[in-house]
Amino acid sequence: MTSLDLRSFVFLAALQCVVMGTVLLGLRNNAHVPIPGPRHWGVAPLLALVSTIVYGLNGELLSVTVGNGFLMGATLALLAGTKHFLGRPWRWRPWLTLMAVCLWSLIAFTVIWPDYRARMLIFGMSMAVICAAHTRTLALYSRGLPSRLMLAAMGWQTFVLLARALSTYWIDSPSTGRFDGGSLFQAIYIGTYSFSILVVLVGAQLMVNERVREKFEYLATHDDLTGVLNRRAIVRQIDQEHQRWLNEGRGYALMLLDLDLFKRINDTFGHQVGDQTLIRVTKALTQGLRNTDSLGRYGGEEFIALLPDTDMSAALSLAERLRKMVEQMPRSGDEPACTVSIGLTVVQGGEKTPGAVLLRADRALYKAKDAGRNLVAIVR
Ligand code: GH3
Ligand code: MG
Ligand code: MG
Repeated sequence: MTSLDLRSFVFLAALQCVVMGTVLLGLRNNAHVPIPGPRHWGVAPLLALVSTIVYGLNGELLSVTVGNGFLMGATLALLAGTKHFLGRPWRWRPWLTLMAVCLWSLIAFTVIWPDYRARMLIFGMSMAVICAAHTRTLALYSRGLPSRLMLAAMGWQTFVLLARALSTYWIDSPSTGRFDGGSLFQAIYIGTYSFSILVVLVGAQLMVNERVREKFEYLATHDDLTGVLNRRAIVRQIDQEHQRWLNEGRGYALMLLDLDLFKRINDTFGHQVGDQTLIRVTKALTQGLRNTDSLGRYGGEEFIALLPDTDMSAALSLAERLRKMVEQMPRSGDEPACTVSIGLTVVQGGEKTPGAVLLRADRALYKAKDAGRNLVAIVR
């Protein structure tokens, strides 16, 4: 390890990181759905590259101030990226204050009381605090393999920073050679730093990819306007539930819901108010349904609710509750009143596909409309 040319190693690693950072910045622009985080993650390796170059220039005060400043900036940018990506609150001010205090102390221990070991302790501990905060955020608020990768790299880096700061202070002899490789801890530290930032960026890229996939999957399965499942997704869920019925004999109920005289709402108040009404109704329906139920938009102002493990009497009281909830929806200003008609049925023995169940729910809905609307009707 100590025979490695650390300067070249660190510089190459920094360049690799910059390439990854550029990819992250590119990903951000290509992901048609906005994803927070990649901009900060992508800028971090650029800052780290500047610090690597400055360290290489071998001016002590320059390294201590600009080099360390950029390195700390890079570490903060990584943390900011993760906070943004995970939707956690982020404020620069306390961290920049830490950075300012740290850098001033470093200048003091370079110019006024030159002490390499004190500087190592102050800088190492400050960096460890940032990395520990990063590790904690990942541990508490992220899930999935890519973020575990980032977590492992950050956790390891925190440990190495602490070990390096403390060992330099209590064990090492005072020295100013940053790349001399004379100290094993120094070598491990520099290697770890370069490698872990690489791992963090790989983790970041995988996290962004995963987020893009999730977003597209969401778009492909959810209705744009109301946010409930779209027709394809709810039909697929019904298919799966029917398969469970065939395999395990667990029955389910289907509800077809159609807004009453909705055309009139559009004609009277305009299409936009109609859209808002659809959103309000789906909110009320979602609130009324249980966690295990699914709601999907089947067509314009027609919805399907799938109620797993539900018999006719339970489904009937749920349907009645939903009907009332829509009827009594709170209205503000000139929001129009709206009611819903509901057709209800449960799966029957011998039904090989859910087609017949859907057909019965449709017949029940027609019954409800025929009987005067704002009603629940069943077909067994
Ligand atoms: P009924 O009680 O018999 O169901 O009467 P209705 O007026 O609701 O029935 P109809 O099927 O004649 O009209 C449904 C209307 O829903 C027609 C269509 O313009 C409107 N609609 C469908 N999708 C949307 C949408 O996304 N936004 C808005 N604003 N209106 C929609
Ligand atoms: Mg209607
Ligand atoms: Mg309709």
